[in-house]
Amino acid sequence: MNKLYLYNTLTRQKEEFKAIKNNEAGLYTCGPTVYNYAHIGNLRSYIFEDILKRVLIYNGYNIKHVMNITDVGHLAGDMDMGEDKLEVGAKREGKSAWDIAKFYEKAFKGDIAKLNIAPPDIWCRATDNIPEQIDLIKKLEERGYTYKTSDGIYFDTSKFKDYTKLSHQKLEDLREGARVEKNPEKKNPTDFALWKFSYLNNPPTPISAGAKKRQMEWNSPWGVGFPGWHIECSAMSMKFLGSQLDIHCGGVDHINVHHTNEIAQSEAATGKKFFNYWMHGAFLNIAGGKKMAKSEENFLTLENALIKKGINPLAFRYAVLSVHYRKPMEWSEEAILNAQRGLEHLYNQVRKLKTQNSKLKTQDIDNNFKINFLAAINDDLNTPQALAVAQELLKSNLPDEEKLAAVLDFDKVLGLNIAGAIHESPLPDEIKKMVHNRQKAKEEKNFEKSDKLREEIEKSGYAVEDTKEEMRVFKK
Ligand code: AMP
Ligand code: ZN
Repeated sequence: MNKLYLYNTLTRQKEEFKAIKNNEAGLYTCGPTVYNYAHIGNLRSYIFEDILKRVLIYNGYNIKHVMNITDVGHLAGDMDMGEDKLEVGAKREGKSAWDIAKFYEKAFKGDIAKLNIAPPDIWCRATDNIPEQIDLIKKLEERGYTYKTSDGIYFDTSKFKDYTKLSHQKLEDLREGARVEKNPEKKNPTDFALWKFSYLNNPPTPISAGAKKRQMEWNSPWGVGFPGWHIECSAMSMKFLGSQLDIHCGGVDHINVHHTNEIAQSEAATGKKFFNYWMHGAFLNIAGGKKMAKSEENFLTLENALIKKGINPLAFRYAVLSVHYRKPMEWSEEAILNAQRGLEHLYNQVRKLKTQNSKLKTQDIDNNFKINFLAAINDDLNTPQALAVAQELLKSNLPDEEKLAAVLDFDKVLGLNIAGAIHESPLPDEIKKMVHNRQKAKEEKNFEKSDKLREEIEKSGYAVEDTKEEMRVFKK
């Protein structure tokens, strides 16, 4: 097997990947909180995780991939204060929390399909796995890691000695960060909820006078309530991956709180190491370096940032691949239009190859480009370099059939649907005619006519893009 190097947040270095069971690897990726659409920042993280999975498969691993759906317990503040985000969504839209979860889960699955992100082998919802979460909390209670306050059962982080091993921060700094959300009953600011009660002084006082009853709640040995956010990922990763706890991923915001707490409660409960590799994707920021977040009103969805504007969602995938996953990425209209051009250029280079059907098999591809491509992706998923190798290949003087076979092979990792794009049907005659007439109108500087034709082409379901050199028209 080739050597694959991945950056492990636990050790803060690139390490050679070694699976627990030979060539079988377990992958757990923290899934969406389904109270709203995923924004393109979230989607950047899922593209990074998809690339990781494809790279593992390309290297010959059999992957078992589990992704959770957070449909309860993620509170407005990551530190267990504020309202459950699902209940917030329910109020906002006048629907039940269950309907909100169902609706946005479906929307999320639609989004990832449009981005060519392969679905996990196992989807698991927090609400479908409540008994497993309760069992894990019971274990922690037996081992003396928990305490009770008026609003829930908490994990005592001072009892877990390696609490800072993932964040590499000083405990004091983590505590300082956690102090933002004040809860006078917590023994340490970093302590976190394992189970929250639906009512204060459980039972029976409602949280506040006149407060509505929670929609999502369950019986437990501690009283009616709901699980904290972190416990779901510990319980479900252990349930579905068993002992294959190889790689666990998320965005960088998960390092200091969510993943740190997952490690603490899992290792405290089992006495064993919880996941060998922890990988984190950097943020997508909007211009000026501000993080895109669902809780801010600055978030862009796949629909409003791309699809409505006639931009192929795979142009966003291409943009994401152009930046290394550990570097922050800045979103701008200009950047996405550049990516769209880059992707179309790549498709056109392949369309121009003299053969469109290569009989060569993967094992027949034996050239330096393949070696360089593998070296790039196996160096901690260096996708910008991998794209550069694909360009070098297409510009090289290798026979066309070999170029085609190699680029299609690379696309197993890149996921840009190159095969689909080259076999796409050409423009229908009536659209071709409109394009031709518009070109003429532009040359004659008849802008009114050219604008009208543009509208007509767009109404027929095609996107029009004018660059300095040419007009590009493609199916929306
Ligand atoms: P959530 O739906 O909020 O639970 O987040 C889903 C995933 O998106 C998690 O892995 C987060 O770490 C990640 N994430 C959140 N905001 C951003 C962002 N602006 N850029 C990249 N990833 C993000
Ligand atoms: Zn998680």
